[in-house]
Amino acid sequence: MPELPEVETLRRLLGRQVSGKCIEKVRFGVKPVTMQPGPAGVRRNLLGATVLGVGRRGKYLVFHLSNDRKLVLHLGMSGQVRRFGRDPMQRHEHMRLEFSDGQTVSFVDARRFGRVCVTDDGVLPRPVKGMERLGPEPIEKEYTAAYLGAHLRGRKARVKSLLLDQRVACGVGNIYSDEALHRAGIRPDRQAGSLKPSEVCRLTKALGGVLKDGIRWCGTTMKDGGYVLVDGSAGSFQNRLQVYGREGERCRRRGCAGVVRRQRIGGRSTHFCPACQK
Ligand SMILES: [Zn+2]
Repeated sequence: MPELPEVETLRRLLGRQVSGKCIEKVRFGVKPVTMQPGPAGVRRNLLGATVLGVGRRGKYLVFHLSNDRKLVLHLGMSGQVRRFGRDPMQRHEHMRLEFSDGQTVSFVDARRFGRVCVTDDGVLPRPVKGMERLGPEPIEKEYTAAYLGAHLRGRKARVKSLLLDQRVACGVGNIYSDEALHRAGIRPDRQAGSLKPSEVCRLTKALGGVLKDGIRWCGTTMKDGGYVLVDGSAGSFQNRLQVYGREGERCRRRGCAGVVRRQRIGGRSTHFCPACQK
């Protein structure tokens, strides 16, 4: 599932590609994913509008339009934004925008958990389900140890599970939570409330750090597919992962002889090093 670095990478690529361009045509696949307010309404709100810029909030991509509407894409589990030019509509392609200069942008999603929403009053995040519950992002200045600590204090839940809550760590999912906990040297199955202030501080820094590194390397593309760049190429942060997807391999922390273990926590596959994460 795309997390903050993947969506941010797409935002940057799309911003360069479509800003200042007018949407001339909107096409839909045979059985498109859930759209708000339905395909006909989406088309009516997009046609003739110029993209002023592409933003992002958590894992949502937000196209700001000249008609005061916003087009919001949530990529779900396996959603992609691709560019197919004038080729015939592809399998699993749900929506294609054609711009006045002939460029296109397509939303593709094989597993169909993604969503397409157009706000009709220019106000965000209210009209888009899920967006109203997003906290600050760990890459923002507002995200402090005090903020994270307030969400962990007194909680019996595992720290890993809490990091997946978008109010606690907006934009963070399964990959970057495992990487941040490893970087901070904290076991994912610790009770959240048991973290000492110094550990909360390390975790705050680690969250921001892994997300920024993920953006720098254009996101994580695992072998089982899912996230790719707009031209179909892969990100490269997967080559720098310390624990995620590395079960049975040596821990990459300098001086650590541990072997990465995988365990289910809160229903999610979790990777950590039992030797250097306490
Ligand atoms: Zn280790």
